[in-house]
Amino acid sequence: MRVFSKIDQIRGYIQQKRSDDKLIGLVPTMGAIHKGHLSLVEKSRIETDITVCSIFVNPSQFNNPEDLEKYPVQTDADLKLLEDAGCDAVFLPSKDEMYTVSDYLNFNFGSLETRLEGEFRPGHFSGVGLVVSKLFNIIQPDKAYFGQKDLQQLAIIKKLVLDLNFPIQVIGVETKREKSGLAMSSRNLRLTASQLQTASKIHWGLQKLKELVLSGKTINQSVDEMVLYFHSEKDIDLEYLEVVDSQSMVAVNSIEAAPEISVCIAAYVGEVRLIDNIYLKKS
Ligand code: AMP
Repeated sequence: MRVFSKIDQIRGYIQQKRSDDKLIGLVPTMGAIHKGHLSLVEKSRIETDITVCSIFVNPSQFNNPEDLEKYPVQTDADLKLLEDAGCDAVFLPSKDEMYTVSDYLNFNFGSLETRLEGEFRPGHFSGVGLVVSKLFNIIQPDKAYFGQKDLQQLAIIKKLVLDLNFPIQVIGVETKREKSGLAMSSRNLRLTASQLQTASKIHWGLQKLKELVLSGKTINQSVDEMVLYFHSEKDIDLEYLEVVDSQSMVAVNSIEAAPEISVCIAAYVGEVRLIDNIYLKKS
């Protein structure tokens, strides 16, 4: 597995692979690699010839400096996991390599970024749009792999690709979960054993909400019931729980309102902010 820290070097490597007619897959990450990330790598390995994974803790997408500071970094372990997973190359740039100016370019994704994560993390999606655009321009992959765990991010990236005419196919990959149902996340490393147990109630609550809707309760009744449940869990601090159109992220109150409907949640367990979602309906 090749590891590059400089933009010129990875460009040279990709150029050579392209001249050999290789199909390039990109898996952007912020490191602290886990099986969720590896499922993206696995999919890219199946669908492309060369899988490139990037590891970059992107400062422009953190609205909370403490969150950035506490983001887990474990580069040696990450490289080993990626190599064992059959990744061909890793792009591991420094902050200075990626950002030469401090007044970043801003993106505005309109209604997509004012809701859910956008509402609670102002500027977050602008930072995501910026770093993903940079990675797309540097690597120029044929396909790029993103997790459904970050459903709103996936919608944002699809819009980015459409509006900026990136010749890249965006692939959404199913959320990988612990046996408890907890969505795998680098942030889980910051949870204690008992907090991990508490955190698994997040997925349980999403499943329960789905059951309520499928058993005939309205979306509003089901959400209200589960909001009460989460408020009764003293170790979970609910930020939002909403049923949305999976494409536009607009709240819906009927399962018929869109072809794909999801329920999305953000909640704190201790100091750690977790997000998750499941599809209520998928086309
Ligand atoms: P991150 O390093 O958290 O920025 O995640 C990098 C990529 O991995 C994003 O596209 C995430 O949506 C995806 N990802 C993170 N956790 C999971 C998971 N549990 N299952 C599938 N994909 C995931």
